[in-house]
Amino acid sequence: MKIILLGAPGAGKGTQAEVISGHLGIPTISTGNCLREAVRTGSPLGIKAKEDMDRGRLVPDEVVIGVVKDRIAMDDCKKGYILDGFPRTVAQAQALDAMGVEIDRVIDLEVADETIKRRLSGRRVCEGCGASYHLDYKAPKQEGICDLCGKALVIRKDDEPATVQDRLNVYHQQTEPVKAYYSAKGVLRQVEGQEKVEDTSALVLKALEA
Ligand code: AMP
Repeated sequence: MKIILLGAPGAGKGTQAEVISGHLGIPTISTGNCLREAVRTGSPLGIKAKEDMDRGRLVPDEVVIGVVKDRIAMDDCKKGYILDGFPRTVAQAQALDAMGVEIDRVIDLEVADETIKRRLSGRRVCEGCGASYHLDYKAPKQEGICDLCGKALVIRKDDEPATVQDRLNVYHQQTEPVKAYYSAKGVLRQVEGQEKVEDTSALVLKALEA
């Protein structure tokens, strides 16, 4: 099954992608994680992407499309995959079509902007392995320390309040039109992002079957 998770930054796409991945046994492809890893290692891709990412802007379509094209060609994607954070523009959605990719379901996680702002202020990421935590919903066992690798947890630069507003603006202007694109194909399902992660997961899994 090939699945897309759409939604504003902080809507819970990464968290729900993990749940679906465990349920269906297919990998998650997060373009944000791929790009952050490239920035961490200082690769040419990372150097190209860093400034846009720090400012909360989208990385150019051709750069991200290249990342996804290479990743979905890998062996573990043969049975399907979950795209988290891609496509974020109609041009990216068209690029998937041009690659011959047939998407089975697009889950749109709906969360109000005010909730997003509150949620993102509590998000922390591991500077070592990139694992994601939240002070209210998914706290680490030891404050400020990653459960998985023991490195420090930090606030993502693009989660700082001024940048969050920019990212929400980008989402409304550039990513929301992607909903209509998939609605016209009959594969879009809208799910309210609930306060409790498990409640949202139940709705997401149901929407995958509907
Ligand atoms: P995310 O972790 O999905 O919120 O992504 C973090 C940042 O990576 C975004 O604010 C963009 O700068 C960049 N990015 C991730 N995915 C895409 C995409 N599909 N198109 C353009 N830029 C992206």
